[in-house]
Amino acid sequence: MTEDKHFSDERTREVETLYRRFSRVGRARMRARRVVRTAIWTLIVQPLSGTKRALDLLVSLCCLLGLSPVLMPAYFLSGGLKRIPRLGRYGMHFDEFAFDGENSAGGEILRIFHLMRWPVLLNILCGHMSFVGPRPVSAGELSPTETAVWRRYNVRPGLISLWWVRQRANIAYGAELEADLEYVETHGFWADVGLSLRAIPAMLYGGGVPTAQSRITLLRIPMHNLTMAEAIEDILARLGCEKPSQVCFVNADCANIAHKNARYLEVLQNADLCLADGIGLKLGAKILGQDIRQNVNGTDLFPRLCESLSGTGKGIFLLGAQPGIAEAVARWVAENAPGTTVSGFRHGYFPPEEESHLLEEIHQSGASLLLVAFGAPRQDLWINEHLHETGVRLAMGVGGLFDFYSGRLPRAPLWMREMGMEWIYRLIQEPGRLWKRYLIGNTVFLFRVIRDRLFGTHGQAQDSVKEA
Ligand code: UDP
Repeated sequence: MTEDKHFSDERTREVETLYRRFSRVGRARMRARRVVRTAIWTLIVQPLSGTKRALDLLVSLCCLLGLSPVLMPAYFLSGGLKRIPRLGRYGMHFDEFAFDGENSAGGEILRIFHLMRWPVLLNILCGHMSFVGPRPVSAGELSPTETAVWRRYNVRPGLISLWWVRQRANIAYGAELEADLEYVETHGFWADVGLSLRAIPAMLYGGGVPTAQSRITLLRIPMHNLTMAEAIEDILARLGCEKPSQVCFVNADCANIAHKNARYLEVLQNADLCLADGIGLKLGAKILGQDIRQNVNGTDLFPRLCESLSGTGKGIFLLGAQPGIAEAVARWVAENAPGTTVSGFRHGYFPPEEESHLLEEIHQSGASLLLVAFGAPRQDLWINEHLHETGVRLAMGVGGLFDFYSGRLPRAPLWMREMGMEWIYRLIQEPGRLWKRYLIGNTVFLFRVIRDRLFGTHGQAQDSVKEA
């Protein structure tokens, strides 16, 4: 009975397909559909892609109309609109609108629901601003004598800026003006659509807080809450010290390993510099009411560090990864940071009996900085055990860094990193090896952080760190 039904279903589908393909009515329908598709593309999508302004106008109008049931009461609650003087396109003055709410009780409600800035839709409607563009600045905020600043004014200021998205993903390492100029040079319809999409996860992550505390603790791991520039400055200072230092990068996976491996936890707790790496830590810290200033990971730090070491004579020893990889990284340094010395390199698959010879080799090289890429926790445990035998001033565990700079593995594109999704890219590259680490590991990590938050173990851990 069921087989008969299955057979008849299949026949019906086959007949329908044939009918659609070859009957006169079917062909006419297909033609009509093609015409409608072409018409939508040429009459709506294409003109809109050429005119960002038209899209701003349309979307801001729709938003204002659609949100009017919220915006109208908000207007009366706030007691009116306030005007903030700003510089717009070509440096022209305009007033940015916002709800007043300074002295009214309603203002507090608007702030809770993040409604204060919504009247900016009026600025977009009027053409002072756009949805996407550099942040609107006030007069005097940027030096008008700098030509680069004027290039920034070539486009309308926007609600969503490239800098804002990068700040939220904790990867805004450079200056805001650099990001603005990058936007001015690369913007276009699709680039703006991409940036708007990237703004969605950015809203979830929350902003970077420059005034955040200098130390944070997550799952009993105390970390230094530094920006990329501060971390480099700290490392350079340590390279000048007699006492050798150990630097560790901690991501969600490391925190999970440390949860089970007491020795590794101890190494992280005693590291001279322990830095937060990845969007998982940012979210975890946020859940615990702390803010991580920037994603200071080895891969982004490496080229900046090479640049800072250039011409100082302080050499780097590259240890780890498969044969040929560290050598390729040495070539990368020679090409991209020619003033930086690579004192030596060695792959990370050596038998235990070669260890003493390797330590001697590092010592003989005279390197100041040792990068160890064995993966966590092995690299950090190894450094902890052998740091004093290497003769270097500073050693850090850098995980998969060599694989990226050697070209063995491509790094996630910037737009993915701006969305905090570098881990998804790595998962796609090596699903067999990494699925457990990312899919289960990230969930377990967040679960542990939430448990800490709910049952107060986090507070106890922080107290013990303070006492220490
Ligand atoms: N590795 C090594 N020796 C070993 C095991 C691993 O040199 O005995 C290298 C491996 O080739 C890779 C790195 O260690 O380059 C580990 O990278 P992974 O992606 O696990 O590090 P992550 O950045 O994720 O911590």
